[in-house]
Amino acid sequence: MSETPPRFMVDRDLFQLCKALRILGFDTLNRSDLAPREAMRHAVEERRIWIKEDMETVAPEYGVRYFVVHSIAAEDQLLELEAQYHLAQFAAPFARCLKCNVPISDVDKSSIENRVPERVFRSFDKFYKCKSCDRIYWPGTHLQRMKDRLPAWNWTPDQ
Ligand SMILES: [Zn+2]
Repeated sequence: MSETPPRFMVDRDLFQLCKALRILGFDTLNRSDLAPREAMRHAVEERRIWIKEDMETVAPEYGVRYFVVHSIAAEDQLLELEAQYHLAQFAAPFARCLKCNVPISDVDKSSIENRVPERVFRSFDKFYKCKSCDRIYWPGTHLQRMKDRLPAWNWTPDQ
């Protein structure tokens, strides 16, 4: 079992898995954002696990770790990854921007009042902001759905 959280790269069609992994705090690149040579460099140098739906188009290269998912739904794909890499212990929900893949941090609620819908502002106490794209996050329904589906994962009580 590894000591540090695994890093990932996903193929284009697995964008929902990419989003789910980022919600859970995992450093995940989307293959379609990168040129082929760049993708290979990230996979090898950063020891990323390259997640694919099949290996048909791949000539496996030395040093690249691939993982093939068989499920359709992102939550089920996460369970496949959990079985292989024991991800739950590393989960850090709301630690990473879904768009930029960079860490996000807590933000004072009063400072974002005009940035989110009123209903959201009233309903939540914890908010997070990405320093890169300035996007605001809160633990909404998408997170709740994942918590229901993946009860054993490392959810902290106030999320
Ligand atoms: Zn961002």
